[in-house]
Amino acid sequence: MAKSPMETEETNRLAQVEEEEEEDDDEYFKEAWTEDENEDGDENDESLEFLCLFCDSKYGSCDALFDHCRLAHFFDFNGIRKELGLDFYGSFKLINYVRSQVADNRCWSCGVHCQSKQDLQSHLHQSVDTKDVKLLLVHDKYLNPFMQEDSLLYSFDGDEEDEEDCNASFEKEEIVKDFRNVYIDDDDDDDDGTVEDIELNAETYNKDRKTVMAVSNGHLSYACSSKGITDNGSDNGLSVRSLESLPKDKQSRVHFADVVEKDIKRVNDSYFGSYSAFGIHRDMISDKVRTDAYRQALLKNPSLLNGAVVMDVGCGTGILSLFAAQAGASRVISIEASEKMATVATQIAKDNGLLRSKTEGEGNKNCPGVIEVVHTMVENLDKSVQIQPHSVDVLVSEWMGYCLLYESMLSSVLFARDRWLKPGGAILPDTATIFVAGFGKGGTSLPFWENVYGFNMSSIGKEVVEDAAKFPLVEIINHHDLVTNAAVLQSFDLATMKPDEVDFTATAELEAKLDNLDRKATTCYGVVLWFDTGFTNRFCKEMPTVLSTSPYTPKTHWSQTVLTFREPISVAASREFAVEGSADVGTDACPASKILLRISIARATQHRCIDISLETTGVCSDGRKRSLPAQIFNLT
Ligand code: SAH
Repeated sequence: MAKSPMETEETNRLAQVEEEEEEDDDEYFKEAWTEDENEDGDENDESLEFLCLFCDSKYGSCDALFDHCRLAHFFDFNGIRKELGLDFYGSFKLINYVRSQVADNRCWSCGVHCQSKQDLQSHLHQSVDTKDVKLLLVHDKYLNPFMQEDSLLYSFDGDEEDEEDCNASFEKEEIVKDFRNVYIDDDDDDDDGTVEDIELNAETYNKDRKTVMAVSNGHLSYACSSKGITDNGSDNGLSVRSLESLPKDKQSRVHFADVVEKDIKRVNDSYFGSYSAFGIHRDMISDKVRTDAYRQALLKNPSLLNGAVVMDVGCGTGILSLFAAQAGASRVISIEASEKMATVATQIAKDNGLLRSKTEGEGNKNCPGVIEVVHTMVENLDKSVQIQPHSVDVLVSEWMGYCLLYESMLSSVLFARDRWLKPGGAILPDTATIFVAGFGKGGTSLPFWENVYGFNMSSIGKEVVEDAAKFPLVEIINHHDLVTNAAVLQSFDLATMKPDEVDFTATAELEAKLDNLDRKATTCYGVVLWFDTGFTNRFCKEMPTVLSTSPYTPKTHWSQTVLTFREPISVAASREFAVEGSADVGTDACPASKILLRISIARATQHRCIDISLETTGVCSDGRKRSLPAQIFNLT
């Protein structure tokens, strides 16, 4: 933060003075220090008097004067500054503006013209719409002191620290505005929601999620408590209400935004902190499926990489940047928000002769130094280095989290794409697809507990499965344990998708597998999600490749994401099974031949987490349907 260097300087100066006082008790320093204080600390100058903006009262300090203005004339100088995000000059203008209005017997806030100074004083009221005042303050004429020798203009507290606070408050106001679209209530009292209620609510919920995401710029989420989400199922009583319920008064709203902001910072600190440990990087690098896919895309597509300007978003150890440099990139901008990893990536690039140097000669002839590591969140890159907008040929990033979207790093990559990628530039990978399939008993822990050294512990297994319906599990699922076909849930074109499309609702239809050889109904305990990312021939002309995290391909550190039904569904391929007309769909007597799913994945209240809602309907071969209670999972 901009504040720290100043603090450090100040602290150093104090420390220096103290040290020298201790050393030789030099009076000179004491005097110098006292002089300095007097220069800055003008409020100690007892000769100054501050004239009220509205009446003839005078005060010995700005604070006393502003207290008086607030209490006697409803003019809250510091509050207005904060509300409007006024910097020193803005505040300076505000004083002159108010004085000029008062001199004209005009209300500074609503513009009403009064007959006399007395009338004006009785008229003054709480400010109405200060935004209009802000517009007036663009006039430079208010930079001219309205009153000769107005000591207030030179004495009010206008240091940078305060300005920062003011601006931050204004930004917070903007943040609060982002919350205006939706507020999801997880009122515990309301726990008797019917399935219909839930379905209705889920619909509104999803629609509104889209809306709020559109305004939240990928960094903020809608307001809902994750507690309700993890409670899961229809007991939840999820309901959507408008932001009527948000605090209305400015102070509470700013406080609310403050809490959100702090929460985001806390989550980011812990998120980037977790990437400071080497273990996680070792796990990623040792995931050969993952690392080889990127390596192949970067090294086996020379026409794309040769001479290219590459940006690596979230470089970690810098492995992808090293591949890009090896592939002949002319410049690699490697961005990393974890301070530790940015330092490490710099060292590694240097140790391998690939660090770009300001002086000639770094690197070697075969691999000239092309990598520059920037320690920053990519969203703040502009504050660290100037990269020409739309100047990058290839944007590479390994951003995928569990269930593809956990960690919300995709938003950061799309941010970088929109700012720095050339029109028609390559993004690697350029596609991502989420798949879904139903899993059977083998995908649960039931078989394990059924036979423990010959003892039946299946009561534990049952409880474990019930619990699993409350939280998504990240586990390896064997493809033999899938009892339906796999279907595409959602596809993303990373080159063209809009940032708010990271939150989506999609449907899929699963059919009971025909290769269910014993031709009996089998039980589907839930669905498993996984993803593929493609380095397609759109950009990787010589060697396209796919990174798959499917149960059908070698396992990766992402495993699969398992969503367990609250109530298992009996399934059978329609051609194999005659149904009993009166039985409930999804029971052994009337197994479902199809399962219809509606799944939403959206960023959760808790920054970087996702909520997954699951609506399941069994359809049997005679066309009858039965819907299960909707479930909501929070991936934290
Ligand atoms: N590219 C490396 C590391 C991938 S893990 C590899 O393939 O091995 C993702 C990395 O991105 C982490 O190191 C994390 O700290 C970083 N990261 C996540 N979000 C970021 C952001 N918004 N800006 C910069 N770095 C980010």
